[in-house]
Amino acid sequence: MQEEFDVAIVGAGPAGISASHILAGKGIKTIVFERGEYPGAKNISGGVLYGHDLAGIIPGFIEKGCPVERNIVESRLWYLSRDGGYSLSFMDNAFRDRLSFNAFTVGRAKFDRWFAEEAKKKGALVACGTVVTDLLRDADNRVIGVGTDRPDGNVQAKVVLLADGINSLLAAKTGFRSEPKPSDIALAVKEVIEISEDMINERFNVDPGQGTTIEIVGEITGGMDGIAVIYTNKKTLSLCIGANLSDFMKNKIKPYEMLEAFKAHPMVAPLIKGGQSKEYMAHWIAEGGYNAIPQLCGDGYLIAGDSAMLFNALHREGSNMAITSGRYAANAILEAFDKGDFSRNGLKGYSERLQSSYIMKDLKKYRRFNSFRLHHHELFTLFPKLSGFAAREMLTVDGVSKKDKQRAIWKKMKEEFSIFKMLRVVWGGIRSVK
Ligand SMILES: Cc1cc2nc3c(=O)[nH]c(=O)nc-3n(C[C@H](O)[C@H](O)[C@H](O)COP(=O)(O)OP(=O)(O)OC[C@H]3O[C@@H](n4cnc5c(N)ncnc54)[C@H](O)[C@@H]3O)c2cc1C
Repeated sequence: MQEEFDVAIVGAGPAGISASHILAGKGIKTIVFERGEYPGAKNISGGVLYGHDLAGIIPGFIEKGCPVERNIVESRLWYLSRDGGYSLSFMDNAFRDRLSFNAFTVGRAKFDRWFAEEAKKKGALVACGTVVTDLLRDADNRVIGVGTDRPDGNVQAKVVLLADGINSLLAAKTGFRSEPKPSDIALAVKEVIEISEDMINERFNVDPGQGTTIEIVGEITGGMDGIAVIYTNKKTLSLCIGANLSDFMKNKIKPYEMLEAFKAHPMVAPLIKGGQSKEYMAHWIAEGGYNAIPQLCGDGYLIAGDSAMLFNALHREGSNMAITSGRYAANAILEAFDKGDFSRNGLKGYSERLQSSYIMKDLKKYRRFNSFRLHHHELFTLFPKLSGFAAREMLTVDGVSKKDKQRAIWKKMKEEFSIFKMLRVVWGGIRSVK
């Protein structure tokens, strides 16, 4: 006999576990399947989480033992040429007190595990080491459960929540979401480097417990549309670099070579000097944005988090969207239970909630951003090179007048790029985020 649950959730990432908190908390018989040995075992993220969305699931999460690494008080943005680069940073005291834990770093292996343990306390069953291999459907093609690789096999459920991340095997097999195009995916590699707590405080100019994020673009991605980050954890640094998959396919650059070149950059090397490599991972990032979002629910199922392409590539926000979409999915499921209607119509409260939330509003606002970057590789090649040249010229004190330096900069810029083209790029950039 097949086991029966009210709700089956595929994936114990932030989306799936958030939903399980709400559902189990309301007495709904909920099972979460996770293919990893434990929640977080298969997960990777640069490591920033956002307090507002997490508090929507666990108010007072700090007091409840959330394994925070550092509270982020400063955000830096670097635009790098091969030999150096620009740095812009914003630090605000509000992030130490009034807005503390607005953003904070976590190790996903620890965080996901803790988050899932809290869901278990509310009554959710988390079945690890179990791969969901298929969706069960009735004669009318409604989803009525999941097939797994366990010997006891299938599990029936009134609703299935797909929260299985971007690299979804079920997507291809069941067709609930079309296979993402290479241009909708970024491939990222991450290395965690251990250095002492004191060294991190010193090198990043932060107090104990406080941290910095550095978001980096420019020539470091080998001319490909991509980004790198450095995040401070308690005793480790997370270094992450990635680029669009279609660019990787064209350029034949190996991700680990890009990471090694990044670590050797003159602005990065001093920060990690003397550190020990602790962890190395590669993962996809959902970069398709608004235009790649699939149908969010159907008869008997909903899709949340990365699996639904809910990732804001400009602001590097994904975990918050996963947590909140999981919460909205759970609320819509509760409504469906009240109505006894698990059809697409009965679950449509999910899409409605998402549409009126910051998630869809932000993704819609930036819907042209990914395509803009992908079509303007000069942002990762010529512009950082020229802007580096301009700054170097102006800062070199060599007896040449500033007027003559300006002329030399202007001449070089005109040789490499027409003013008209440059204005078009600037206008395209503004349009892509307005
Ligand atoms: C390198 C990198 C850096 C990032 N940095 C940040 C950041 O700093 N801040 C931020 O907010 N976001 C960041 N993100 C994005 C963030 O990690 C994701 O948006 C977020 O994890 C999505 O959560 P999710 O629950 O939807 O999916 P996931 O976290 O991917 O969880 C999906 C879970 O489903 C499981 N699973 C998959 N298929 C099956 C199956 N068939 N059966 C059973 N289990 C299955 C997986 O093992 C996994 O545990 C980053 C992503 C990457 C790759």
